[in-house]
This record gives sequence, structure tokens and C-alpha cells, in this order.
Amino acid sequence: MQRWNGWGDARTDYPLPENAHRWLRETLGPLEPPQDAPLDEVLAGLPESTLPDHALIATDREARLRHARGQSLPDWVALRSGRIGRVPDGVAYPEGEDDLEALYRFARQRGAVLIPYGGGTSVVGGITPEPESPPVITVDLQRMSKFLNYDETSRLATFGAGIRGPNLEAALRAHNATLGHFPQSFERSTLGGWVATRSSGQQSLYYGRIEDHFAGGRMISPCGPLVMPPFPASAAGPDLRQMVLGSEGRMGIISEVTVRVSPLPEYEAFHAVFFPTWQQGVQAVREMVQARLPLSMLRLSNAAETEANLTLAGHEKLVNAAHTGLRVLGQQRGEKCMLLFGATGPANQVRTARRDALRIARKHGGFHTGRYMGTKWAEGRFRTPYLRNTLWEHGVAIDTLETIVPWARVEMAADAIQTAIRQAAEAVNEPVFVFAHLSHLYTSGASIYITYLFHVRPDSMLANWHRMKGAASRAIVEHGGSITHQHAVGTDHAPYLEAEKGPLGMALIGEMIDTCDPDRLLNPGKLIKEVPHVG
Ligand SMILES: Cc1cc2nc3c(=O)[nH]c(=O)nc-3n(C[C@H](O)[C@H](O)[C@H](O)COP(=O)(O)OP(=O)(O)OC[C@H]3O[C@@H](n4cnc5c(N)ncnc54)[C@H](O)[C@@H]3O)c2cc1C
Repeated sequence: MQRWNGWGDARTDYPLPENAHRWLRETLGPLEPPQDAPLDEVLAGLPESTLPDHALIATDREARLRHARGQSLPDWVALRSGRIGRVPDGVAYPEGEDDLEALYRFARQRGAVLIPYGGGTSVVGGITPEPESPPVITVDLQRMSKFLNYDETSRLATFGAGIRGPNLEAALRAHNATLGHFPQSFERSTLGGWVATRSSGQQSLYYGRIEDHFAGGRMISPCGPLVMPPFPASAAGPDLRQMVLGSEGRMGIISEVTVRVSPLPEYEAFHAVFFPTWQQGVQAVREMVQARLPLSMLRLSNAAETEANLTLAGHEKLVNAAHTGLRVLGQQRGEKCMLLFGATGPANQVRTARRDALRIARKHGGFHTGRYMGTKWAEGRFRTPYLRNTLWEHGVAIDTLETIVPWARVEMAADAIQTAIRQAAEAVNEPVFVFAHLSHLYTSGASIYITYLFHVRPDSMLANWHRMKGAASRAIVEHGGSITHQHAVGTDHAPYLEAEKGPLGMALIGEMIDTCDPDRLLNPGKLIKEVPHVG
């Protein structure tokens, strides 16, 4: 059973190593474990649904509560405190496109709105009902998750959009194939959700982002179906697939997705290298990616993240080993920034990629510690989100945000965003621990991923989060970054979208939504606040 107010399967825990407790207290000060609202009390406090019976729609309180919120920090505060706010009036479980059309008809009759729901892992408020809203029906696509077709010759696989990561990979594995799309939310997120949010997996360097996988499919809009044939490429005007990517449930419900798949890799290995400074690490990874080394993953943590990750995972002894290693190499300054890199593919290509990556790392002062840390990372990568549950239970909240900028601005933007968060926290005397890594690297730039830890305080933490998140978002915009590289827009990033798209760009997005959904049946308030009526 999934946790109703946290991450993942209730049977999986992530206990903290003993030193991690001490480190958290030293870093943030004394911690106070919060009192979470119990499920039965929260259920008892929910209003009755206003919807009449419908064969496709469940209206029981538990189904509605479990679909009320995603995984953003405000979602966690709402669920853990029991102050949930608006919950859907019903949850629909369609089994096919006819059911989607029936739901559009019902929503029109009842003046209701529909929120497409994949795995509910949105970290930007993407599936949360608006506070003041007509009746809300959340459309959970879990029953539209079949493996529909496999064209082995063309390496194209078609699935129902509600399929989750592990089921999709298991289906492909039976054909010796993989999609290779591994967001950290892999365990719960869905193919349709990945397309609707322009998701990026941890090995995007090798396999590509969801845009690269998405070959075609079907989207059922309130005005009818949009069919996207899986052309390998086409010069026939604007690519409609690009309009569906990132549409965040506003233009239609994606019902089927055809993806480009790869053969299972012959070999894969992950390695760790420590750099004495962040600057040296940044130069090294830029050189690696610009040399187009066939790596599958690069993740460079700054010194604070290296310390936090190794301590929370119980590997802090490795920091000392790396320190000794760097001293042997004559690097005395020793901030210790960890780079994890992966190579995937034919064994000889993996060997060459490893050799070339290590040559570049050494040139920039890097010390290779072998495969131990990389292997641990790969084994535990989908378990890491469970740490959020444990930290919260100890009184520590964790939030993440991300952007992407060209290489020329990477260091400046990373500093500015972290400083903005620290200053916003300082202004309200809130201890915060901020750290960063670079991942999802491109020849022209890199994604900057920021994590910050602060106290769970039932009364003030949401206001504190708004300050920190707002300050970070403004710093991103000021430094010319995209408001999101992978988490999407939802409600949390919507105020910053115009800075990136400009007035004409916003009008074009509004027109696409208006054309597909003139009656505003779908996911109001997400992506863009106000959709102009065009017709
Ligand atoms: C712990 C954690 C780690 C994460 N790691 C990553 C990561 O590594 N990379 C990354 O890219 N993201 C990551 N995310 C963010 C999130 O998982 C992604 O945005 C993911 O793509 C959402 O998929 P989902 O199926 O859960 O969609 P949901 O959260 O259910 O929905 C997200 C949005 O897509 C719309 N939508 C969903 N399905 C459909 C559909 N079939 N048709 C139309 N619209 C639809 C919804 O209406 C909503 O607007 C992470 C989130 C968490 C909580």
C-alpha cells in the first residue's frame, strides 16, 4: 500500500545512520519531530462529494484524499498537518478512450473539471485542485496501462499512458529492450505523466529525455482525438508532438504513447571521482560532455552536497579516504566534490568512455575512488526518495528545485540561487542547509539541481518555504535560467513562465489550450493561470 501522506510503499523505510542524526543536529540545531494528523481524523473531516453516482467515478473519502495532493513541499505540509484544503469530489478510473469521452460529457453536464492523474508524483502542484473550483474529478489512468504493441524492427513500443516505470521496463525487458527513462520517481510516475511534464531520466545523457523517446501516440481532447503518427522525422510543418509534450493535462488526456526503445545494454558501470574544488569539477564535466564522451550519467555534487549525501547514506568514511587520495595527488585545498559518472553500452565502448573520462578528471585534479560509490548510487537510486519520510519524522523538511543555464552562467547561477535561499531563510531566522549538483549535461549547458533542508514547523514552515522558493525562482529568472529543466510548471512555477516565453509565446500556449478545451474542462490553473478565449 502506498503511503497516503509521504513517499512510496508503506513497507519500505530508510532508517538514518547514527552519525546522520548528529550531523543533522549540528547543521540545523535541535530538531523537533512533528505530530502528523492521523488518517482516520483527516478522512472524518472531509466534506461529502457533491457528485451524483456514476459508473466510472468513485466518491469515497479515502480515494478522494489519496488523489488530492502530489509530492511538492506544500502538498506534504497539507497532508502531514491534515489541513488538506480542496479535495476532488470524485476519482474516475477510465479503461479506454470511450470512458474518457463519457467523462467529458459528464463534466460538461455537471459543470465539473477534470484533472488527469498519472502517478501523482508532481512536485509543482500539477494535480492539486484549485481552492475555489467547481466540482473536481481526478482522472486516474492506472487502468489504461496495457502494453499494446511492439514493433521490434523499428524499435517502437506502444503503451497505455497510465503505465508506471517498473511495469513498462519489465514489459520491454521480455523483448531484451529498455526505454532507459529513469526519473528518480520511476517507481510511481507514468509514461503519460512523463510526456505531459517533459520529464528527464537520470541517464538522459545516453538514452535522451522523454522528448527523444516520444515517437507518437494519441491524446483525447474535449474537442476530439489528436493522433500523432510515429514518424522518425518529418518536415510537415510544426511538430504536434512538441505541443503535447509539457501540456500538463490542459489540452487533453494522453491515452496512448509510442516510444523509441533501445536494446538492453551489454554492460554498465558507475564510478566516483573526487575533485578538490567545485570549479575544477565543473571544468572537468564540461570538457567530458563537450568531447561527446559516450557516458550515460554525470552528476557532480558541490562540497556541501557531497558531505550531506555521504553522511545521510552512512558513507562518511569515504570522504576521509578521498581526502587522503587528493592529498597524495598534491591537492591540499580539499573541498571534496564528488562526481558520479556512468557508462552504458557495448563493453568496449564503456571501457573507452571510462578511460577518457578518467583522463579528463585527472587533468582537472580528480581522484578516482573506483566503482564502490557509483554502484551504491545505482543500487539505491530509487530508494533515496524514502529518505524524505525519515527526515520529516525527525523534524527536517527537504525540498528541491532545478533550472538549466548555458555553461557560461552555470557557476554564477548556482551560487546566486543558493545564496538567495540562504538569505531568505536568514531574514526569518530559519536555519537552512543548501546544496547543489549538476546533472543532465548538454554540450551548451547544464541543469543545476538544488536541495535545501530546514525545520518542519507546523505553523511557519509554509511561509518560510514560500520565501525561499520565491527567492530562488527570482534568482533563476535573473540569471537567465529556465524556471524548470524537468519538474514542469504546475502552479508553483506558473508566475515565472512569462519571463521565459514572452507575451506572444504565452498567447500561443493559451490559444492551443483554447482550441483543444474551449469549455475549460481540464486541469484549471496549471501551466498558465488565465487562458484567453480566442474564438
Ligand atoms: C521523489 C521524486 C523524484 C522525482 N524525480 C524526477 C526526475 O528525476 N526527473 C523528472 O523529470 N521528474 C522528477 N520528478 C517529478 C515527477 O515525477 C515528474 O514530473 C513525472 O513526470 C510526473 O509523472 P506522473 O505520472 O506522476 O504525473 P502526475 O504527477 O500524475 O501528473 C503531472 C502532470 O501531468 C499531467 N498528466 C499526467 N498524466 C497525464 C496524461 N496521461 N495525459 C495528460 N496529462 C497528464 C497531470 O495533469 C499533471 O499536470 C520527481 C518527483 C518526485 C516526487
